[in-house]
Parts: sequence; structure tokens; C-alpha cells
Amino acid sequence: MTNVLARLRALQEGDLPTHGGSTLAYVYDSGLAEADEIGRAALAQYGATNGLDPTVFPSLRTLENDLVGWAARLLNGETAVGTVTSGGTESVLLAVQAARDAANSPTPNMVIPSTAHAAFHKAAHYFKVPAVVVDVDPVTFTPDPADIAAAIDDNTVLVVASAPSYAHGVVDPVREIAAIAADRGVRCHVDACIGGWILPYVRLDGIEVPDFDFAVPGVTSISVDLHKYAYTPKGASILLHRDASLRKAQFFASAAWPGYTMLNSTMQSTKSGAPLAAAWAVIHHIGDQGYQRLARTAHDATLDLAKRIDAIDGLTLVATPATTLVAVRTDARSDVFTLADEMTTQGWFVQPQLSFRDQPPSLHLTVSAATALRLDELVDALTAATRSAQQLGPAHVSPDLAAAATTLDPTTLDDAAFDGLLTIAGLADTAATGTLPTRMAPINALLDVAPPPLREALLTAFLDHLMRPA
Ligand SMILES: *Cc1c(COP(=O)(O)O)cnc(C)c1O
Repeated sequence: MTNVLARLRALQEGDLPTHGGSTLAYVYDSGLAEADEIGRAALAQYGATNGLDPTVFPSLRTLENDLVGWAARLLNGETAVGTVTSGGTESVLLAVQAARDAANSPTPNMVIPSTAHAAFHKAAHYFKVPAVVVDVDPVTFTPDPADIAAAIDDNTVLVVASAPSYAHGVVDPVREIAAIAADRGVRCHVDACIGGWILPYVRLDGIEVPDFDFAVPGVTSISVDLHKYAYTPKGASILLHRDASLRKAQFFASAAWPGYTMLNSTMQSTKSGAPLAAAWAVIHHIGDQGYQRLARTAHDATLDLAKRIDAIDGLTLVATPATTLVAVRTDARSDVFTLADEMTTQGWFVQPQLSFRDQPPSLHLTVSAATALRLDELVDALTAATRSAQQLGPAHVSPDLAAAATTLDPTTLDDAAFDGLLTIAGLADTAATGTLPTRMAPINALLDVAPPPLREALLTAFLDHLMRPA
């Protein structure tokens, strides 16, 4: 037994650290060792349970209703009901699916700002609810409510706002957007996946936060991830609906087969009770006062970090952070991709965001409470990394390759052509060996000049190579 666990530990040495505050995307660290230990224990205790049927594991029903009640209280949902899902994406998918099925339009669409999370494009793809994308202001990165209003038509089943958006960390004008949606009789989903457990707690501390929750008339559903700022183990999010009638279309029942009558609240059927139980245990352990402290710590650290980043010669903030997310740009002396590599060299992971529409590429930093303890170190690393990135100069894409990337039509390429492109992009070796190159900048720079459909096609081909049995 110790042998296989030791092998797992050895494999994990190649992973990004999940704790310690140096990984500024994907993971969230409260810095509270006891909370982590409790989460792990609850995962183990509930690993074999099945949330498929809330009548045979009544404890799971109790835990779920308790957490949904907690979230509803936080988000001013006096009449709200909800469901614990496996993550933000599942919460978003179900919000779109419920809106589509309740509206019963033959050609449904949804109106989303261009800054909405990619999960909405996934929902569009899965559920055939095309996204009508409204561009955002180039300075505030939020949509003009008038543009949202103009985009709504008789087939619109859902309007979306973010609180905040992942890429820029700003909160959309929820009050105006929800009013427009209500006026047109359309549902309005607020994606608070990353801000929903932060904004209410910093507000309790007297900090002014934009209106974004059920206190705003017209908001019909809200997603909030527990595995982000509730610092619970992965696999837990909540989708809230303003009232039970709005949730109905989300549920699925099937008696059209000879087995048990299937009755599901989420996309999964058999589902582990472990993430739910772990979330319950961690949330009750940390408690409201604990979250108020953690939220304030991460929030204050973010504002401090933003100020200090703006003072680094060669870096600028993309937007003023509303919560705990920072987006950063470089000037022409360096590029964000080389900067990210230089940060990796120093033991920090920051996430490159490719150019999009007329916005240049940027770096994304998600600040969690554990990062707050190491802010000086982080600022020093950013300063040093900016200097070395300037010395190295921007990652270079050969003009021929750039020209090819902008003209290639991914729909006309066969597998061999993709293999050739992966080789050129420097991804072929990675696919063969499973280990990433130490420098990602050349790859990111090439992807950056490729139009989005080619980026998608290249990365899909890459994934296909990567995921093969040994
Ligand atoms: C994280 C996030 C999501 C998706 O959540 P996952 O848990 O990664 O599936 C959706 N919207 C926003 C704003 C997010 O930050």
C-alpha cells in the first residue's frame, strides 16, 4: 500500500504546488492547514458514497441543503433554491440548459458579454444555444447595458453578467443588465463563480462592492464555486435559482428504461458525495468569521499587489481589480509569455492570456489568502522577471510562420497537416513525451498570432496526442 502511495507522491513531484501561494491560477490556498486536513478527511470518509439517490444517502441531502442555504443567505436569496454541482462549468451549463428548456424556443440564443467565461461557449456548443456576443468597453472591460438591450431578441432565453469576469477581474453592471432582462421577460444569470464567496464577505467588512446578487431585481440565477474562494477540495460549486419554479427544467427524470427511474439534479448521475461532504466540513470549520478574514486578506493583498505592479517599470494593470484577480500587460520591451517563463524559473506560476479581439495578451494572477503572506516575494519576482524578459526581448515568431498562421483554415487541414503544425509550434515533442518544454514563450507567441479557430484546432490536436495510453 505504501508502495503505490509513494509512487503517487513521486508522480506529483512534477505537478504545480497546490499550496504555498506560489501558483496564481487553478488552485486556491487558504493557508489554513487544519481546514485542508479536515477537507481531506471528509473526502476519504465520503469517497464511496453516491449522490445519485438522496433518499438512500440522506446525509448527502442534509449536507447539500445546508450548503445551498448558506449560499442563499450570503447572496440575499430569500426564496432561492439550488444544487451543488461538480464545478463552475457544470453550474453554468445547467443554468443555460434550464433557461433553454423552460423557454421552449425553437431557435434559442443567449446574450453574453465578450468577457463571459468560456463555459458559456461550451454550453452554447453542447446545448445548441448560440451566444450573441456583446463587446465590452476597451477601458472598463464591461459591456454597455444599451448594447445588451440591443442584442436581445424574441429568441433570447438568457442574459449573462459576470461578478467578476475571470480575465479582467471586473464586475459587470448587473443592476442595469438584470433590469433589461426582466423588462424583456428573459432570465439573467450572474456568473459569480469566482467572486461569489468573496464579495459578500468583504462587503460585511464595510467595503463597498457593486450590486450583483439576488438583491438586484431581475437576477434569476447565480453560480458560485466552493472550490475557489470557499477553499474546499476540488469538485464543488453551487447553482442557485431565485425560486423553485426556475429550477424545475434543470431536473431530469427518465422512466424510459427497465432499470430504476433515473432522477438527477445535475449532469452527473452516480456522483461521489466526497466533494460535497468535504465542502461542508471545510465551510463549517472556517465559518463566516473565518471567511470574512480570508476574503479581506486576499482582497487587500490584491489591491496592494495591483498598486505595486503598476509601479514596476514595464508593467501596467489592465483594469482596476474588483476582487482578487489581477490582469497585467507589458510594454513593447518585453512580452507576457517570456515574463511568465521567467516567473516559472523563479518558482511562481502566472497564467498567460492570449490576445483577444483588439486586446493585447496579458497575464492573469488569482490571489488567494496564502499568496498574501508572500506579497513582497511576489513583487520582487515580478520585478526581476520583467528585467530579464526585457533583456531577452519579446519571443519571436518568424514572419513566414506568422503569415501561415493567419491564413490557414483549420477546417481544411488533415491529421498530417496538424502533425506538421504541432512540430513547428514545438508541441510535438511534448505530445510524444508528455513533458512540457521548459520555455512556453515560443509556443504561446505562435498561438497568439493564430486566429482563435486555429488556436482551438491546434490545441485540440495537441490534446489528442497527449492523451494516449502509455
Ligand atoms: C472558474 C470560473 C468558471 C468555471 O468554473 P470551473 O470550476 O473551472 O468549471 C466560470 N466562470 C468564472 C467567472 C470562473 O472564474
